Order: sequence, then structure tokens, then C-alpha cells
Amino acid sequence: MYPAAFEYHAPTSVRDALGLLGSLEDAKILAGGHSLVPMMKLRLAQPKHVIDLRKVPGLTGIKEEGSTIVLGAMATHWDVESSPILKAKAPVVAETAAVIGDPAVRNKGTIGGSLAHADPAADMPATAIALGFELVCEGPKGRRTVKADDWFQGLMSTALGEDELLVEVRVPVWPAGSGACYMKFPHPASRFAVVGVCAAVTLDKNGACTRAGVGVTGAGTKAVRARGVEAGLAGKRLDAAAIEAAAQKAAEGVDVQADLQGSVEYKAHLCRVFARRAIEAAVKRAQG
Ligand SMILES: Cc1cc2nc3c(=O)[nH]c(=O)nc-3n(C[C@H](O)[C@H](O)[C@H](O)COP(=O)(O)OP(=O)(O)OC[C@H]3O[C@@H](n4cnc5c(N)ncnc54)[C@H](O)[C@@H]3O)c2cc1C
Repeated sequence: MYPAAFEYHAPTSVRDALGLLGSLEDAKILAGGHSLVPMMKLRLAQPKHVIDLRKVPGLTGIKEEGSTIVLGAMATHWDVESSPILKAKAPVVAETAAVIGDPAVRNKGTIGGSLAHADPAADMPATAIALGFELVCEGPKGRRTVKADDWFQGLMSTALGEDELLVEVRVPVWPAGSGACYMKFPHPASRFAVVGVCAAVTLDKNGACTRAGVGVTGAGTKAVRARGVEAGLAGKRLDAAAIEAAAQKAAEGVDVQADLQGSVEYKAHLCRVFARRAIEAAVKRAQG
């Protein structure tokens, strides 16, 4: 299938890209193209202008800034998966990228594209919420930072303004005594998450949970924080019974949708099962 006709633009700076975005009617940003191009081919998206970010310098790279890891929005899933900094300081982020699609998808798709597109079955949103990513947008009025909790607003809808670019993703490094894990039930063909859960915990010297972050993707129209699970983990020694009890809350607050992959009951069940598994693995990692 062929997309509808469009005009292609390849700016060479963020400023030029923003200028085009602000002046052209019905324009779309192109990053890795692995979500936008299929949508254009299916004519679900028919932008009149496509603004390609690949020639814009300064949007790639992964670096450490104190206790934060800063990823350029155009870092590919492969860059994230293979980053020595992320593997050492926030391995769950690299692990989440490693289970996105297949190597062809990961070589082209970008972390910024994934978070801007906000597919309800995308993997990284769960990890973004669990760890507490911050997303840096740049627009005509300058830069602003949005917390992952405020980013995902609905089905493929985010806090990004129409005149803004997502330029940076900031990943906080959790302290010693922390562990995190992302687990999903993948769609057998695309590998998208039918349900995916990222759990992160910090344990004190006595093994009690001092901090928990749990994000759920796939089940509803957008990725959400599983607040009930987090409350169930907080302050507790995380033995099997405590984990199981907390995981039972995993579908609370999720607008679970029935679809070709399963009924509401089945997907809610997957939320609970994958929450338990992800928390168990996170706790093991936190224990060292
Ligand atoms: C076969 C297949 C399997 C896949 N499997 C998975 C999977 O298992 N898990 C998963 O999570 N994803 C999966 N994906 C999606 C893939 O990860 C995409 O790469 C990603 O969702 C979009 O990233 P992109 O860089 O390709 O963005 P694009 O397709 O270029 O853009 C997507 C959207 O985001 C906007 N956008 C992109 N970058 C920016 C930016 N910097 N600022 C503002 N707006 C921007 C675009 O305008 C567009 O609306 C799959 C895709 C395919 C084709």
C-alpha cells in the first residue's frame, strides 16, 4: 500500500525543525518511521508534510549527568539496548528496549518516537512510569520537562504540544538496594505487549520496601501507574505472600480493553500474573 502524497522536509537543526512545524499546515515529525510510515501506508495518517529529524544533530547519544541518564530522543532502541551506561546504571531500560519488536524495528525505531507515539501496547511506557522518566520537550517558547506520569494522556495521546519536539528523555538512577524488571506477554506476531509490567523496588537493610514503582502497559488505552500495587508493597518485607497480595491490585485503575488478544477478564488476569513475576524478579535483583 502507498501513502497519500506528502512533501518531505529534512531540516538540519532543532530550530529549523521547529520553524517548519510551526509554519506548515498538517505536518508530522518522522523519527525511525516504524509507527508513522505503517500508519501512512494504511492511510490512517495522511500528513501533508513530513519533517524528518534524522539530519538534526544533537538528538542522539546517551550520557550520564550526575544521578540521571540523558538519552537523545533519536536514540534507537538498539542504542538503548546496547548502552553500557544503561546496562550498568538502569539495566531495566536496556532490557525493555531489547524486547521491542525485532532487530529491524530496534535498529530504526527510537525511544522518542515510541514515547511520542504512545501506542497502548508499547513496552517503554511501562518502564518510563515505573522508574519516573522525565521527558524534555522543545517548542517556540523554549524547553519544558514533563513527568512520565503526566505524559500519557489517552489513546496515542500525550502531553506533547503540536508545535513541540520531544528532544530528550531523562532516566533517574535508583539508589543502591534497588532492583527492577520488565516482563510482558508478547503478541506472537508483532511482539507488542498484550500486557507488560515494569516493577522497581528499593529495599532497606532489613529487607523492607522503601520505594516502589510499577507501570502497566498493553491492557488499556494508555500506560498507567499501578498505585494499588505500589501501596501494597510500600513498607513491607516482600515475601511471596506480600508480593502476591500487592500484585492482585495490578488491574485497578487500568481501563482494561477487550480486543482480539483477549477479554477484559483475561487481560486483567495477565496484569496480575505479570505484576507478580516482575516484582519477584525486581526483589531478587534488589537483594543482589
Ligand atoms: C513490526 C513492528 C513491530 C513492533 N513491535 C513493537 C514492540 O514489540 N514493542 C514496542 O514498544 N513497539 C513496537 N513497535 C513500534 C516501534 O517501537 C516504533 O519504532 C516506535 O513505536 C515509534 O518510533 P519511531 O522512531 O519509529 O517513530 P516514528 O514512526 O517516526 O513516529 C511515531 C510518532 O511519533 C512522532 N514523533 C517521533 N519522534 C518524535 C519527536 N522526537 N518529537 C515529536 N514527535 C515525534 C511522529 O510524528 C509520529 O507521530 C513495532 C513496530 C513494528 C513496525
